[in-house]
Formats: sequence, C-alpha cells, structure tokens
Amino acid sequence: MFDNLSEKLDKALHVLKGHGQITEINVAETLKEVRRALLDADVNFKIAKEFTNKVKEKALGQDVLTSLQPGQLMVKLVKDELTELMGGDAEGINLSGTPSVILMSGLQGSGKTTFSGKLANYLKTKKTKKPLLVACDVYRPAAIDQLHVVGEQIGVEVFSDRGNNDPVAISKAGIAHAKANGFNVVIIDTAGRLAVDEQMMNEIANIHKAIQPQETLFVVDSMTGQDAVNTAKSFNDVLNFDGVILTKLDGDTRGGAAISIKSVVNKPIKFIGTGEKMDAIDVFYPSRMAERILG
Ligand code: GDP
Repeated sequence: MFDNLSEKLDKALHVLKGHGQITEINVAETLKEVRRALLDADVNFKIAKEFTNKVKEKALGQDVLTSLQPGQLMVKLVKDELTELMGGDAEGINLSGTPSVILMSGLQGSGKTTFSGKLANYLKTKKTKKPLLVACDVYRPAAIDQLHVVGEQIGVEVFSDRGNNDPVAISKAGIAHAKANGFNVVIIDTAGRLAVDEQMMNEIANIHKAIQPQETLFVVDSMTGQDAVNTAKSFNDVLNFDGVILTKLDGDTRGGAAISIKSVVNKPIKFIGTGEKMDAIDVFYPSRMAERILG
C-alpha cells in the first residue's frame, strides 16, 4: 500500500537524518522533495503546497534547526501533518436508529455492493447487530443477484423487489420489513453510473430525502486518484454525506485520494476496503495510515 509514496518520503527525509544540525536551506530542500512525493502520489497541487507550508512553519517554530535530532523531528512533523490531513481521530458510524439506516452511494464499480456486504458482515460479527441488506439498483438485475450472492456468503438476509423500479418505494419497504422482523441495521445498496450524471444524483437525493438515513456513506475507488476527489465533491454537494469508504487500497493505488479527500469534502474516511473477500474491511485510522506511509 502506497509503496512508492513511502519510498519517496523516506528518501526525502533521510537526507536530514544524517545531520547533527541542519539549516533553513536543508529544511526547504527536504520539503520540496516531500511536496514532489505528494504530487507523484496524485495529491492535488494546492493541498501538497499547503501541506509543506504548514510543516515548514512548525519546523521553524519548533527549533528543528537547533534540535539534537532534526531528522527525527522532521519525520514526526510530517507524520503529524499527514494524520491531520487524513482526518485526525478515527470516527465510527452512527448506529443509533431503530433500525439504523445506512445509505450507500457512489459510482458503478466503486465497490458499493461488495462493501455493503463487508459492512453487514462486520456489524454482525463485531458489533453483534442484525443487519438487513436492501437491493435498490433497479437498472441492473445482475446487481440484485450480486447482492443476494453476497448475502448468502455472509448469512445476511437480502430484501429485493425485482418487479419494482422505484428505489424510494423499495427502500421504504426494506425498512418496514426490517422493523417487522427484528433487524436493527438496514444497509441500502443503490444504483451507480459510470460517471456523475443528473439522473443518478436526483435519484439518490430522492432516496436520501425520503428515508433520512442515520448514516450516508460515499464509496470510492482509491485507484481513481484525483477523479475520486472530484466525484466525492459532486456527491457531497447533493447528499452532504457522513463519511467516505475508500476501496481497493490493496491495489497499487498511489494514495492521493486517501490523502486529499478529507480536506476537500471535510468528511472523515470511515472504512477502507482491502480486497474482494468479505473480511477485507478495516476501520480507517489516520494515524496508523500515516505511520504506515512513513514507516
Ligand atoms: P459497485 O458497482 O459499486 O457495486 O461495485 P462492486 O461491489 O460490484 O465492485 C466492483 C469490483 O471491484 C468487483 O469486482 C469487486 O470484487 C471489486 N472490489 C470491491 N472492493 C474491492 C477492494 O477493496 N479491493 C479489491 N481488490 N477489489 C474490490
């Protein structure tokens, strides 16, 4: 995960590690390399620039120049800033409703259906909840089948209504079914398209308005870099979602989306997907991720 970024940051910061004392020029040069590493990882230019400016300010304010181990101190400053950028403290999901309704949003192929299953499985095993999955992709019968396959794999019931092409009605019926049958979490998997379009946005906005979920999650493929950030912005404008799910972090993603998305939409990354299997889900901890990136 983020191997290239880790390697480049390590190289940039390594230069300082050998020095007993450093100059302002050393700091500036190092931060230039840090910025380059972030840009290479597909972090937005403005974010990368702000990032290095903040680290520079802290470095000069914290007497890095006279510190006994300036290299280590710089690594710490970069790590702290990376943690801050990715979201500070980890945040859970709101499970306060009876039932708690969780609405999944995102583009087709982002990993919504897979993640819906993973989340149901996670809640069932870790939080001893009784989740119900609801299939609301009315355009692709294959998507409904896929959710049923996932449900069977993890032993979670799936509510669907194949003849019905109204996702608002299906969502409501799913919630009613949950209430009547003792489910305390409802996860609603919705239709996605290959790109943001008005019809999809209207549809998800209508579902959101009608069911008023406790938690609206935006699922995004981390491999899509800058596009991931733009898509997040479009969905957030319409849904004001509660959190982001970054999928496919097991691939050779450069890491730009993970680093940039929080600061663009100001919403936390709550979980990450790290594989196709149902247990490939992790709570996102910004500090652990920063630790991983900086080694
Ligand atoms: P949806 O269209 O948003 O519902 O996306 P799907 O859940 O169908 O996922 C699209 C593809 O991505 C499928 O082949 C999934 O197996 C795969 N996928 C989903 N999440 C992950 C992940 O975290 N890692 C990997 N490697 N593949 C994933």
